[in-house]
Amino acid sequence: MVQSLALSSSSTDPTVRRSLTNLSLGVAKSKKIVVVTGAGISCSCGIPDFRSSDGLYKLVKQQYPDVVLRGRDLFDVSLFRDPTTTSVFYTFISKLKQSTDIVSPSPTHHFIKTLDTKGKLLRSYTQNIDGLEERAGLVGSGSEKAKINDSKGKAKLNLKDVKNVQLHGDIRRVRCTLCSAEYLFTDEHMHAFLEGTAPDCPDCASRSEARVARSARALKIGKLRPGIVLYDEPHPLGDDIGSIQSGDLSRKPDLLIIMGTSLKVHGLKKLVKEFAKVVHTTAPSNPPPVANSPKPTATKNAMKGKVIFVNKTAPSSEWDGIIDYHVQGETDAWVERVLEDWKRMRPADWEVQTTLDGPGKDLFKVSKENAHAKTAKTSKGGKSGRENIPPIPRPVTSKLDKPSPTTTTTMVPLAQQAPSSPSKRSRTTSHYSKHECSPSKKKTHSIATAAERTTNVNALPAEERGLLFESRSVNHVPVVEIVARTKRNLGPGKSQPTLVDTVFS
Ligand SMILES: [Zn+2]
Repeated sequence: MVQSLALSSSSTDPTVRRSLTNLSLGVAKSKKIVVVTGAGISCSCGIPDFRSSDGLYKLVKQQYPDVVLRGRDLFDVSLFRDPTTTSVFYTFISKLKQSTDIVSPSPTHHFIKTLDTKGKLLRSYTQNIDGLEERAGLVGSGSEKAKINDSKGKAKLNLKDVKNVQLHGDIRRVRCTLCSAEYLFTDEHMHAFLEGTAPDCPDCASRSEARVARSARALKIGKLRPGIVLYDEPHPLGDDIGSIQSGDLSRKPDLLIIMGTSLKVHGLKKLVKEFAKVVHTTAPSNPPPVANSPKPTATKNAMKGKVIFVNKTAPSSEWDGIIDYHVQGETDAWVERVLEDWKRMRPADWEVQTTLDGPGKDLFKVSKENAHAKTAKTSKGGKSGRENIPPIPRPVTSKLDKPSPTTTTTMVPLAQQAPSSPSKRSRTTSHYSKHECSPSKKKTHSIATAAERTTNVNALPAEERGLLFESRSVNHVPVVEIVARTKRNLGPGKSQPTLVDTVFS
């Protein structure tokens, strides 16, 4: 059975509260965490939902009033068969790119980066194409920083540098339709795409020019297109991504965190199940009962080898025995809670931050003075230590580019686009399935099978649609609750919050 923990009942239900605290401690104690994410983690960023009435799709329709295209058709490789639909695609993607450019990563994106900084992230895998992980500091599989040229001059991924695997590509890149050379999506490309045209590939052009210069026949020159992966087309980095996943499985990750995805996509389900299986093998044979554990900090990591699913809606019964905990709520709210608990229970993990030079140093000084002032003030009062309530710790992420909660629209990721028709849905071929033909490739491409086959969004139950489109962000844990929790954990013999908590709160 999946144990359900509603974030909202944390303040009223001590069992849920204790379990959530144990989960936080589990995160802090784990060493090789795999994170899998979907659209839910970008919801609070304000990426517009092009399906909504005032969305991007409507704008595109205004530019191309005669073209009839359904949402899913805009992400199907067959659109390249027709010059007009190709133009619509370019215009649409450039508008989507413009809207992702102006938003900032969510606390959840920053949390994944924090796991990496703390040496706990084995890998992040995302269905999202918005590239917000990279803007939070995680090198993505689409990044130039992760590319190396092999002996034939073809770009390959430097596997160990990739922190975030972009299962469906990256909207901030363009690639050549002919030679697959990749470039950053620049303003120049943007201008061309907005007009519905595609720029020539500089790589192809220079090869052709070189031939013409030595009086040879000119070569065909490819066009640059957005670097996302469409339905029914193979991932250009499929081999490398398969290798990354195989390598990660063999390294036996000790915690799997799945956030903000409805887990409806075949390829992603497969990925999650494979990781869950390996993660479970690392669990201690007789973990202490989590909810009744009297001293969470004194036990071994009871959460080692667990699978945590953080999402607004519950997983289906299909996930019994695969997912151990369903944290019901917003991913941003959960990660903020994890960071609070982590800083309170394992302050030593955060002390290294105080040795930083630069602006942090001054921050430390100021906070130190404040802390002294506070201590002096409270000790004058002659109250007991229990009354000395420390400053309320807030997660480090809340300082960073906190997006405005007023934006309410979201993007539906590639993987959650509704298939256009039942016939398309039931087709077994996918843009990844070519790899399945070769037995030698089956293993390495386990990640990339039929990834985009998904349930029709409109056919989903209402709560599922709510998950996909609703983006109301959850407020922080109420102050009263934090204070209550902080007091509880400051009983005699419990560690006082350190200066570090103050500095980074
Ligand atoms: Zn080219």
